[in-house]
Amino acid sequence: MAIERIVDSSTHDNPEEKKIEISLRPQNFDEYIGQDRLKNNLKLAINAAKKRGEPIDHVLLYGPPGLGKTTMATVIANEMGTNIRVTAGSAIERAGDLASILTNLADGDILFIDEIHRLGRAVEEVLYSAMEDFKLDIMIGKGPAARSVRLDLPKFTVIGATTRTGALTAPLRDRFGIIHRLEFYTPNEIERIIKRASNILNSKIDAGAAEILSTRARLTPRIANRLLKRVRDYADVNGDGIIDEATTRAALDLLEIDELGLDPGDRNLLNRIIDNYGNNPVGLNTISALTGDEATTIEDFYEPYLLQIGFIERTPRGRRVTAKAYKHVGKVLN
Ligand code: ADP
Repeated sequence: MAIERIVDSSTHDNPEEKKIEISLRPQNFDEYIGQDRLKNNLKLAINAAKKRGEPIDHVLLYGPPGLGKTTMATVIANEMGTNIRVTAGSAIERAGDLASILTNLADGDILFIDEIHRLGRAVEEVLYSAMEDFKLDIMIGKGPAARSVRLDLPKFTVIGATTRTGALTAPLRDRFGIIHRLEFYTPNEIERIIKRASNILNSKIDAGAAEILSTRARLTPRIANRLLKRVRDYADVNGDGIIDEATTRAALDLLEIDELGLDPGDRNLLNRIIDNYGNNPVGLNTISALTGDEATTIEDFYEPYLLQIGFIERTPRGRRVTAKAYKHVGKVLN
């Protein structure tokens, strides 16, 4: 089993973490900090849909985990004033599972499918006509007596979330009217997210501490909230519960999170590549062999942030470590 990383932006389905996440989740556009371009596009689509009295177009949100895709799906439902049903690509195993979800929806409902790239082929095919014509094609019976029946479905909206659009088939992608990438947040936005969360959690955090956290949270709200909770624990145990600069630094040192938010896992990845391949391009599978992490873990969790801060470059022949990364790990690029 992999070691749980504090800066890993997935939740690992940890029930305690899920509970706190739900309490911190923004409920409407005003509470949802950042992603202005996405918000503006969605506001327009929602207003237009409301005017026509129709559900909004299907929405596909993509980007690294923890940036607010699920949260945005909830916000859309709240802003539309509709119900949301939440599921995941891996949870819908058979076409029949999807059929039962779809036939239980009401007009205007939102169906949120997390990790939509993990839907199986047969399930995906059922989804095509459901999304396009609000029809469900099902087979009744087996063998020569089998026949296909077409059922009407309510007019609903699919919101799909994925960390990798590349893994989506073209026909599925084509069914979405609104496709949007979530960007990393700016440190300033992360700082606002931290202040909002500490308010909800009833913790006192000073400006200096919030600023330090904002630069070490990998520009990702989920990690910001998680670090806040860890620092809060530290302040409760080792101080008077007030999160100030000194407690924040001490807690982050203990977690081995450096000033850019990298943890030992990231530094190990960079060091391994540098020691074995210098700044020559290396393939994903080679990196995976060097660190022992699965290639998908590297692609979803480590790489997006390392690319964002310019520590890794993508070249046609693979990933290359940059001079900036050399400097950060204290090595010299010849
Ligand atoms: P994803 O679905 O992309 O993995 P989530 O929507 O589950 O990410 O977001 C993770 C957590 O981060 C949420 O519980 C929420 O508390 C917080 N969060 C995400 N986006 C925002 C935002 N824009 N403003 C404030 N908090 C946010």
